[in-house]
Amino acid sequence: MFGKIDKSWTLFLDRDGVINERLIGDYVKSTDEFRLLEGVAEAIKIASENFGRIVVVTNQQGIGKGLMTERNLSEIHAYCLDMIQASGGHIDRFYFAPALAAEKSPLRKPETGMALQAQQDFPEIDFERSVMIGDSDSDIAFGRRLGMKTVYIDATGKEHHEADTTQRSLLEAIKKLIA
Ligand SMILES: [Mg+2]
Repeated sequence: MFGKIDKSWTLFLDRDGVINERLIGDYVKSTDEFRLLEGVAEAIKIASENFGRIVVVTNQQGIGKGLMTERNLSEIHAYCLDMIQASGGHIDRFYFAPALAAEKSPLRKPETGMALQAQQDFPEIDFERSVMIGDSDSDIAFGRRLGMKTVYIDATGKEHHEADTTQRSLLEAIKKLIA
């Protein structure tokens, strides 16, 4: 879809609504509220075989609101990683933006801070050889600001006009990317 994906490419993934079920009007605050969406473990396994790096970039203002702690979040991410690895996939790192939207944090998508953190940790990351997959306007804006390819996820297939493509699920998106 964007040319041949190889190990020089990086995959940036939003979390809620892409990897796990989004809780409408609430935050995933503990591992029992965290449910992988269908096909995600397989999708990340396939992605791991094709991309050089896979990172998650997630806005988590539930921390800023005091509804959960960074400790809760790291437990959730460890739990997620366990499930992904049990299926043969891998995620290199989870980045999160804990600030409230009103705080205008440079980390919070659509600001690009989490991508810059990832590039510091993994200097080989090239944003022009990166794909951002998300289910929000802020994900698409984040990817576009960085010069990434963008994939919007919408289960109903309703197209996002700023994204390069819209797909119904992460698995569908990954299969198209590597086809
Ligand atoms: Mg999302």
